[in-house]
Amino acid sequence: MEKLAEVKQCTKCKEVEPTTNFYKNGTRPDGLDIYCKSCRKLIQVESVKRNADKVLSKRHNERAKKLGLPAELTPSLVTYMKEEQQGRCILSGLEENLHFEHAVPLSKGGGSTFENCYFISDYFNATMHDKNMFEWVKGQLNFVQRRFYNVFVPMMAERNGMTPKEYEAFVYSQYHENEKGIV
Ligand SMILES: [Zn+2]
Repeated sequence: MEKLAEVKQCTKCKEVEPTTNFYKNGTRPDGLDIYCKSCRKLIQVESVKRNADKVLSKRHNERAKKLGLPAELTPSLVTYMKEEQQGRCILSGLEENLHFEHAVPLSKGGGSTFENCYFISDYFNATMHDKNMFEWVKGQLNFVQRRFYNVFVPMMAERNGMTPKEYEAFVYSQYHENEKGIV
């Protein structure tokens, strides 16, 4: 009689798969993981991401708190903010080396909040420092300026319940009120 192929159902994707598609797990009665290898890999990727967002929200909240500024980030909020930008830099559209940034820097009274933070690639972040973004963008390439005014400003304005013009004026006022040397 032909030997039956050994199979097992994954409790996540519900596929019945050969047992070789499951990692070994000595703590289970059948010695195999309850999830298939591809589901297990997805779960691990998700958990690494969740942990990164936890670390990030904690770090930025602590920095803001020290300065007596709003500190309202949560891990799930950070995850949501990244998803809202589809995991891409708000100015270049690239997925690599994303940096969590404050639109109004902490040194200018901006908090660690949904209304004041976004993701941008390290490439831009490196030249921006604590500069007023509306001044900084004047020295950028045309496509960057277009994305700044067409994508970034409307997003931040909406989060703050302002029109894009009002948001620009608000950012300038933060720099005026917090003039400590470099603007
Ligand atoms: Zn599965």
